[in-house]
Amino acid sequence: MSSIEMDHIVKEYGDGFQAVNDVSLDIADGEFMILVGPSGCGKSTLLRMIVGLEDITSGEMRIGGARVNEKAPRDRNLSMVFQNYALYPHLSVYENIAFPLRLSKTPNDEVEKRVNQAADVLELHEHLKRKPANLSGGQRQRVAMGRAIVRDADAFLFDEPLSNLDAKLRGQMRTEIARLQRRLGITTVYVTHDQTEAMTLGDRVCVLRKGLVQQVASPRELYEQPVNLFVAGFIGSPPMNFLPASLEGTALRTPFGDIELGEERAATVRGHDVLLVGIRPEYFEDASLVDEAKKPHGATFTAQVDVTEWLGDAQYAYIPYEAPAEVAEQLKELSEELDSEQLRTQAVVSIDSTSRIREGREAEFWLDTRKIHIFDPKTGDNLT
Ligand code: ATP
Repeated sequence: MSSIEMDHIVKEYGDGFQAVNDVSLDIADGEFMILVGPSGCGKSTLLRMIVGLEDITSGEMRIGGARVNEKAPRDRNLSMVFQNYALYPHLSVYENIAFPLRLSKTPNDEVEKRVNQAADVLELHEHLKRKPANLSGGQRQRVAMGRAIVRDADAFLFDEPLSNLDAKLRGQMRTEIARLQRRLGITTVYVTHDQTEAMTLGDRVCVLRKGLVQQVASPRELYEQPVNLFVAGFIGSPPMNFLPASLEGTALRTPFGDIELGEERAATVRGHDVLLVGIRPEYFEDASLVDEAKKPHGATFTAQVDVTEWLGDAQYAYIPYEAPAEVAEQLKELSEELDSEQLRTQAVVSIDSTSRIREGREAEFWLDTRKIHIFDPKTGDNLT
């Protein structure tokens, strides 16, 4: 049993700064949990409190049901993989992997068996005699993982383990970590600021911002039902478009025309002078490629295409829009949640790579209005 439970965890540094602010999070036995968020959101601090490298200001941390607040790191039986791998340069790969077993005075034949098992899993056999300096970045990363899996730890903790690798290797190692975790079935907490890692690796993802949990959900739920503007804008690439809007009766007035919401949906967003409508790039399509039968489920509009980007398997079109001046002004005043990114004056639209839409011309787009999100610009909450 190696669940990890965080109960109202607070971390205040000496200067009174709260890096982690009342975080409660339960990680189930065997679960792969991702902690993600922008730089400074407190994710490394949280991880370091789990492993015991940082004191907990208040709240309770439990591992396998037992309180660990006062336990030293070595008594917590956790394996941590650091961003810089923390390998010993003077030791061979074999001895680096064996290190935790030497510390616990494991008999030699058992050490040999376990190191060989780890080397099997990570395909490190041919490198066992080498020193870390003579390995590639990806191989060093594997040695660091070997050292983590060689003992029977209750959980793995990863702190941005792939950030020193180039993009291609990062992709490979990501798949390896996912495979390894599934094979070993061990509770894992993985810190990253990379949303691709967050979306592909975890059973669940915890999105943090300024020391506060924003949402804990499966990758699909985060993508499809973000609870607020921050999560909606953070997850997804290219990011969600946020357009100024207002409600007129049961219609949402947007820069691309009116979207009929129907009474039930309109009721959930009524009472706000201004709204933000969140539209992922793929909610749009080139209208000429949409089935006639599907068209009534959305809205068709004409817009000028500024730039297109053709990527082989996808194509993006950028369409400028104008927000009514007073709405833009009101939005700016309403909330510090909104940064210039969220108040762009062009929408990015993902269309089929076969689309004939061209730069500098007008084109007809179809928008799947069933999928749009509507946010309160003041609180950032997703109202839909
Ligand atoms: P990054 O991705 O940049 O590592 P992070 O989300 O992991 O960011 P943390 O390293 O947990 O963030 O830091 C959270 C906040 O706490 C930051 O604002 C940081 O400056 C602050 N902080 C971290 N360590 C200390 C410390 N020892 N003393 C004071 N403040 C600290």
